[in-house]
Amino acid sequence: MPSWMSTAMTTEGGRDCSLRCDREPLSLYVHIPFCRSKCPYCAFYSVVPGEGELDAYLEGLEGEILLRRERIGTPVPLRSVYFGGGTPTILDARRWERLVEMMESAFSFRATTEVTVEANPESLTGSHIRLWRDWRVSRVSLGVQSLDDAELCLLRRPHDSRLARGALAALAASGLSFSADLIFNLPGQTLRDWHRTLREVLSFGMEHLSLYELMIERESAWGRCPPPGMASGYPFYRWAQWYLALRGFFQYEIASFALNRRWSRHNLAYWTRSPVLGVGPGAWGFLGGKRYRNAADLREYLRNIEKGKLPDVFSERLSPEESSREAAVLALRTAWGIPLRLFALRYGKEALRTVLASLETLPDSLFLRTKEQVALSPKGMRVANAIWERLV
Ligand code: SF4
Repeated sequence: MPSWMSTAMTTEGGRDCSLRCDREPLSLYVHIPFCRSKCPYCAFYSVVPGEGELDAYLEGLEGEILLRRERIGTPVPLRSVYFGGGTPTILDARRWERLVEMMESAFSFRATTEVTVEANPESLTGSHIRLWRDWRVSRVSLGVQSLDDAELCLLRRPHDSRLARGALAALAASGLSFSADLIFNLPGQTLRDWHRTLREVLSFGMEHLSLYELMIERESAWGRCPPPGMASGYPFYRWAQWYLALRGFFQYEIASFALNRRWSRHNLAYWTRSPVLGVGPGAWGFLGGKRYRNAADLREYLRNIEKGKLPDVFSERLSPEESSREAAVLALRTAWGIPLRLFALRYGKEALRTVLASLETLPDSLFLRTKEQVALSPKGMRVANAIWERLV
């Protein structure tokens, strides 16, 4: 188990501790809610920017950061920062400079702070890459999705395979560490097509991959009218597990594969229920044991900030029992699974017994068990949704 994981699992120590009292390093998520066009399968909050909206957003974001900083108090060291979206590269280099200044003046960075930026092939430029390389960006996560033009067209992505290859080549030449997001189980996709995309993407030399099965969210455009011809994603996922292991990648989470221990520390903050400050319209955060969500509407978000109000529109605090079940599901997403002793310390021995009893009812082949932990086997990761049903 990585050392930061034991820290994350123990700091709460049964207390419902706010940031003010524990000063635990914080992860920051910045949501940039704009895209060039809306992909029909996507349920994330993002809009095509209207006149003046990019600058109005930056103004509002600065306001929200000030409000949240007042609540948090003195600068808390950042464990990780993630700029996601939407499409962060829709902000040009000039606006990125403003964003960087905002971050540097509001937060305390360490040499070890991991900084990840999502980028899309149609809007990534050399200026972005130079600015990120000169700042403290640790990894660029590129939304490739596929290198097959017919598949990209079906997904109505705003880029084609030529732009994706160009962006991958530019990142490979930049010296920045980079990752690619890919989608499988597209209507009509064959294992051969999937292999072709994976093999070519790997040829660019990235150290991290995130693989997602095409899911049709109810709130997305396809939610009302799904495309025909979708099959089971199981063979694609199984094949990728086998192929990526052969290429030296370690599957450290259900959807995430890394070479050379280059796993995403930011995403691991979610899976260990560590504090995450989320800022921007539609962003989620988790602070002091409470989960919140900002207004997923740019105008409503800005109206709140103008009035000096935090833009949260939803918050929840789980009961101790719900928290322990959620913690078990999140920990089982990772290759390290549930650290038994730490889990009992944080949630109690009874909670651990309940979780283990639920898992006992499932076949042994789905788990890897040691005296210290219980984790999903590769086969367990393939049927994870069925396992969650037993736990929640
Ligand atoms: S580019 Fe990404 S965030 Fe934007 S609409 Fe498409 S899937 Fe959603």
